[in-house]
Amino acid sequence: MPSVFTKIINGDISSYKIAENDSFYAFLDINPLVKGHTLVVPKVEIDYLFDLDDQTLQDMMLFAKSVAVKIKESIPCKRIGVSVIGLEVPHAHIHLVPLTNMADINFSGPKLALSAMELKVVQDLIIKG
Ligand code: AMP
Repeated sequence: MPSVFTKIINGDISSYKIAENDSFYAFLDINPLVKGHTLVVPKVEIDYLFDLDDQTLQDMMLFAKSVAVKIKESIPCKRIGVSVIGLEVPHAHIHLVPLTNMADINFSGPKLALSAMELKVVQDLIIKG
C-alpha cells in the first residue's frame, strides 16, 4: 500500500506543489504550523530519513535548501526552521517551517486550519516569488 506521500507524488491525491525534480517533491503541509510550512519528500518511499543512502540524503538536503530559499523570499519570517518528525507518515520527509519565534516550530501545539483558498494563496506566493 503506497504511502499518502507516494500518492501525492503520483498525483493520486492532490497537493499544493512548491517544487519538484526527478528525485524529490515539495508541497505545503495541509495542517501547517504557520503559513508556508512545507514538506520535502524523496520520491523513493523509505520510512526513515536516515535510512536513505548518503547520496540521496545529501541531494535531498540541497533540494530542501533551494525550497527554503524560495519560502524565505516570499513568506515574512526570520529564517526557515528544519525539522524531522515522521511519527505520523511513514515516508521520509523534512519539515521546512518559516520562523519568527521559537513557538512557531512547536509540533505539540495547535496547527492552522487553512482553507483550500488560503493554501492556494500561500502556494502562489512561494511559487511566484
Ligand atoms: P510527521 O510524520 O509527524 O512528520 O507528520 C506528517 C505531516 O504530514 C503532518 O504535519 C501532516 O499535517 C502532514 N500531512 C499529512 N497528510 C498530508 C497531505 N495529504 N498533504 C499535506 N500534508 C499532509
